[in-house]
Amino acid sequence: MYYHIKTYGCAMNVHESEKIAGQLEKLGYSETAEVEKADIVVFNTCTIRENAVHKAYGNIGKLKTYRQENKKVIIAVGGCMTQDKEQAEDLKKKLPFIDIIFGTHNLTEFGEMVKEYNNSHKKVFEVWDSEKDMPKENEVTRNSFPNALVNIMYGCNNYCTYCIVPYVRGRERSRPQAEIVEEVKNLLAEGYREITLLGQNVNSYGNDFENSESNFVNLMETLAVLPYKYRLRFMTSHPKDFKEELAIVVGKYDNIPKYIHLPIQSGSNNILEKMNRKYTREDYLKTVEIIKKHIPNYALSSDLMVGFPQETEEDFNETMSLAEEIRYSSAFTFIYSVRHGTVAADMEGHIDEETKSKRIQKLVALQNKISKEISDEYIGGIYEILVEEKKEGAMCGKTDNGRLVKFPTENYDLLGKFVKVKIISSTISGLKGEFVEISK
Ligand code: SF4
Repeated sequence: MYYHIKTYGCAMNVHESEKIAGQLEKLGYSETAEVEKADIVVFNTCTIRENAVHKAYGNIGKLKTYRQENKKVIIAVGGCMTQDKEQAEDLKKKLPFIDIIFGTHNLTEFGEMVKEYNNSHKKVFEVWDSEKDMPKENEVTRNSFPNALVNIMYGCNNYCTYCIVPYVRGRERSRPQAEIVEEVKNLLAEGYREITLLGQNVNSYGNDFENSESNFVNLMETLAVLPYKYRLRFMTSHPKDFKEELAIVVGKYDNIPKYIHLPIQSGSNNILEKMNRKYTREDYLKTVEIIKKHIPNYALSSDLMVGFPQETEEDFNETMSLAEEIRYSSAFTFIYSVRHGTVAADMEGHIDEETKSKRIQKLVALQNKISKEISDEYIGGIYEILVEEKKEGAMCGKTDNGRLVKFPTENYDLLGKFVKVKIISSTISGLKGEFVEISK
């Protein structure tokens, strides 16, 4: 029996697909890359932007005939999109051939739902209103060696006015520190060499514990001293919660990459207030100064949004000037997308598509220029990279501060090893190099 999982969205969803895979393997399924070979096809959806929803509908819809002709195939849909009950209902109506629907809160019950379907051959639709408890950690099937994603918390309390996440992921819940440390130790012992701690806002880790000293900074320190050569990354940090103590810890430990993703969204205080981001441009710039002070050779990335309701040309120009002032190493640039049920969806002054499109093009051109200039600065230097992927005749990995590097080699044994590479050319988002040696 084979399964095929199609994942949309962020690293959180990627990791949750690993949890879905773990449950399916426990039931005796094996992975296949070919949809036509699968006995169960799972769509792990995203609802952060409208185009992610459209893509999912389109791709699920393509399986209609396949499902009708193959009565034994199971089509299952879960994730953030189906956690929104209205969207789940809409999906049931528009694509009635779906067999199983589940949400984010009952993801770890998915294996049981598959068993129930296999026993009864009746549709199983179950979406919990809220998390009944901390999601139990089930067996995880990872496909990402030498990288491993580790949840440290779930949910978000911030309610940024454009964002659907708090509605589909619930309130913040932190995993016990001892459990996280145990999971990381096991992964390192198995040979994983890059651990990424995941949370919607990792800086809030531990805020929900009663009578506990545990917080994100001491979690990072506890993990950073584990006796392995490895990289300890984290995402994502909310700028309002990024504290100097964290910058000090990142600067202090060699195995914490000097790469910080600090999403500002907009350079305009007017828009930041409407977004309910709870910091100003000036607060953000102060945080960047703190990062500069404690983290030499830092690389900063961000999320930059254009076209939020009521965004004027002046507001947009402030985002442009901020991007120029900070010179992000890289940035995820995107157009505001209306999410039903959020505060921003009901705001007045939505921006027309043409204006949004002009603004995003200008911002992307600026960021591409900056990213390329930063990439060029690497040429001629020798950098340590963790080899993460093999491609035809080449291996790929990242520098400590997150730049993608590709270098030609037939030596695929390098996967999971730290190597030194001399950079010989660059593109906007990546670097090409020559292998020098395996790191000591
Ligand atoms: S911090 Fe804001 S943007 Fe991030 S997940 Fe929470 S509500 Fe969404």
